[in-house]
Amino acid sequence: MRKENQQEFDIVNLTEWHKAGYKGKGIKVMSFENLTKGHGKLTLDVFTEIAPEAEIFEPEIEYSKNGDKCFSEGIQQAIDNGVDLIFNALHFTLDEEKKEAIQKAHDAGIIILNAIGNQGEERIDKSDNKYTDVRNFNNFTQVGAVAPRRSGGIYKLSYSNTGKILSRVAFTNTYTADGTKFTGTSSATPFEAGVDVCLIGYMKEHEIPKSKFNEILEDNMMDLGVEGRDDKYGEGMFVLPKLYEMDKYKGSDNMSQIINYAEDNIPKSTPYNRRPATKRIVKGICIHNTANPTSTALNERSWLTNTDNLATASYNYVIDAYNIIQCIPDDEVTWHATDGSNGEGNVNYLSIEICESGNYVKNEKAAKHFIVSKLIKYGLTPNDIKPHKYFYSEKDCPRLILPYWDQFIDEITEMYNEQTQPKEEVSEWAKESWQKAIDKDVNDGIGAKNNITEEQLMVFFDRLGLLD
Ligand SMILES: [Zn+2]
Repeated sequence: MRKENQQEFDIVNLTEWHKAGYKGKGIKVMSFENLTKGHGKLTLDVFTEIAPEAEIFEPEIEYSKNGDKCFSEGIQQAIDNGVDLIFNALHFTLDEEKKEAIQKAHDAGIIILNAIGNQGEERIDKSDNKYTDVRNFNNFTQVGAVAPRRSGGIYKLSYSNTGKILSRVAFTNTYTADGTKFTGTSSATPFEAGVDVCLIGYMKEHEIPKSKFNEILEDNMMDLGVEGRDDKYGEGMFVLPKLYEMDKYKGSDNMSQIINYAEDNIPKSTPYNRRPATKRIVKGICIHNTANPTSTALNERSWLTNTDNLATASYNYVIDAYNIIQCIPDDEVTWHATDGSNGEGNVNYLSIEICESGNYVKNEKAAKHFIVSKLIKYGLTPNDIKPHKYFYSEKDCPRLILPYWDQFIDEITEMYNEQTQPKEEVSEWAKESWQKAIDKDVNDGIGAKNNITEEQLMVFFDRLGLLD
């Protein structure tokens, strides 16, 4: 790292992450530009300062002037190559073809960052489409540029566009390895891409499901303007958490499932008052099964805006083994508990529909992890989880879970405890051996009560010289 970048690195906590070896290893990144010269090369050099161990490449396509024609082709290559993140430092506007391509990338779990541009203008969302929904972190993120003052504080560069479509801001003026200072939102975008990639690398290494990416971002936004979102700084600036704080995002067991998380909120204009947009405070979580053995999370989300649907019924989330979809934001009332417009369930309980299709055990497992994250987020406990039946006794919902409801809650409680209670000390009887193992370098000194995997055991044997 160039020493000129030290202040920026310190502010976003990259210094700690780099020191610990989190530099984007194993993560694939694509950029839609010629990376061998000029502007593209500079964006690459900035990215390399931030995430030097990530693998970055450009798609094999013929570039048109503004990247228009090549876009969907490039996205397809990104999907085929298992790319994790795409950044685009050449600002463009969205047309139908690009929107379709972005949706495809999103469905494949790819994060897309886009430079908001350097015209010093206020950009408004003319298209009224969800791709420019600033809350939609995971889908299409528009990045603006800020810089630190020597005297402290952070300011927005005057050229950096503002407005409703701005998602968040990142540092510009990064020095590249050869000492060049690169400026503009074209510099802020690869900077942000690099920071995100360091996070994704950590998440992969520690098997934190992708569905937590947004949550980690939201939890660690530094507000720069007014509290919450504003048109000058968007959601603010993402700051990598202290590494010890990452523990709370680790699941209690290894999730082999890769789960996409999407915010695909239904419009407020959806018929039958399905999204009344009435604000509320989350005081608990209400669990449902979809009562449809074949419908997936995507199907359930589509049903909410299907013209054949005549029901005043809605939910905040629908979950299956592959997708967690937010259909209505957490802080809005939904119609799910059959307890009326002033009912405690409808008004104050986050509604979660668990799908019955496919591998139900996996659907439920994904839901449990998600429920625990929401409990922690809202300072709730497993006592605050209720079945639909609690609010309307005639309804046998969640029909699959009710027969073993107590066990369901016990399992969630165990996961919840593991994430909220401090890890126990090493037992008295084990202390001497524990220390010896540390001295012999076969023990990292943490996780005394953790389960051990077979591969860890074999490495222990090997390091103790038992296999030679
Ligand atoms: Zn229900």
